Amino acid sequence: MEQVIIIRYAEIHLKGKNRGWFERIFAVNMEKSLKGIRHEIHRYSGRYLIENFSDGDTDLILNRLSKVFGIHSYSVALKVGHDMEQIFCAAKEVSCDSGLFKVETHRADKKFPLNSMQVSAEIGGRLLDCYEQLKVDVHNPDFIINVDLRENGTALVFNKFYKGAGGMPVGASGKGLLLISGGIDSPVAGHMIAKRGMSLECIHFHSYPYTNMQAKEKVIDLTKQLSEYTCGTKLNVVSVTHIQEEIHKKCNGDFMVTLLRRFMMRIAEKIALKCGAQCLITGESLAQVASQTVEGMTSSNSVIERLPVLRPLCGFDKDEIIERSRAIGTYETSIQPYEDCCTVFLPRHPVTRPKLNEVIEEEKKLDVNALVEEALKSLEVINI
Ligand code: ATP
Ligand code: MG
Repeated sequence: MEQVIIIRYAEIHLKGKNRGWFERIFAVNMEKSLKGIRHEIHRYSGRYLIENFSDGDTDLILNRLSKVFGIHSYSVALKVGHDMEQIFCAAKEVSCDSGLFKVETHRADKKFPLNSMQVSAEIGGRLLDCYEQLKVDVHNPDFIINVDLRENGTALVFNKFYKGAGGMPVGASGKGLLLISGGIDSPVAGHMIAKRGMSLECIHFHSYPYTNMQAKEKVIDLTKQLSEYTCGTKLNVVSVTHIQEEIHKKCNGDFMVTLLRRFMMRIAEKIALKCGAQCLITGESLAQVASQTVEGMTSSNSVIERLPVLRPLCGFDKDEIIERSRAIGTYETSIQPYEDCCTVFLPRHPVTRPKLNEVIEEEKKLDVNALVEEALKSLEVINI
């Protein structure tokens, strides 16, 4: 009797002719997520089976799999031969000793001498003989013992379905560049887009020495947590200190955040095009803070030349975002105190509804290209 894990995939089955391509990406992602753990992955009739791992690694494997997009559900099962005695032993192993239950048999191997009803009846009957406190209830059971008779002479017996992360396998929907700050929102935005199958690279802007090194460490931690869902990522770190100093020196201070955002977008687009990312992703949520108005978005969008900007959190309330942040495990890191470059030289009356022509006028006081070029020179790429 061997312990195995059955993986059922989510939306991939919908993808007609591309199915093989999706499945390959999915299998590679599972391999990556289980890196460092002894195991084998085999495909069988629309599922995957993880085998040959040590029982002590089961929880670790389940934890890693819970972060693989594309998985609809998974089950820990016992694998035995096509032999009623062995199937019964496995069923007894996964059964509770009291409560309401039923046995459900799926017979992929049509040559098996008993039909699925007969298998269920016999296994159920023998369990009733074993445990006095068990009762059959086919309509409202407390638990179900599933018997899956496969074509290759093995049977899988299990009693639980764990819900998978859902979504599409990362890598199946292109690549995006996530603007990641140290806050709560941007990691959630990245997670949502990765769930739709997009692989991510990240970019963070800092204003060292106005912001400290812990702020950078924090973003590295957040990116690491996010990378558990994205099968790894890269973090691009860029200094915007000189840009903020220049804005501070030459422009109306009320435009600090608005102008800085435009620089971030310009630099991000350049890096995105270089690393093959097809869009930018931000954690903006409409009206959440003063700078996140539709006018603010118009202002930052208007410097982007080629790529779309995805803002998956636009329609979410802060508490919805916090709930997601907790669920994906980034919240505790996000709330550590940190300095954000946007709070450096923060004006007392930041413009909240910037008029594009006024922003452009203000920006004329700066040598935009030179400032962008200088920022790009500070680029540091960290493999996560
Ligand atoms: P977050 O919780 O992600 O920090 P926020 O609610 O604090 O978001 P803002 O500070 O207005 O919002 O930033 C809006 C978005 O702009 C962020 O979600 C992020 O995508 C991007 N952004 C802001 N600051 C930075 C930064 N220092 N580096 C990279 N991206 C940034
Ligand atoms: Mg922030």
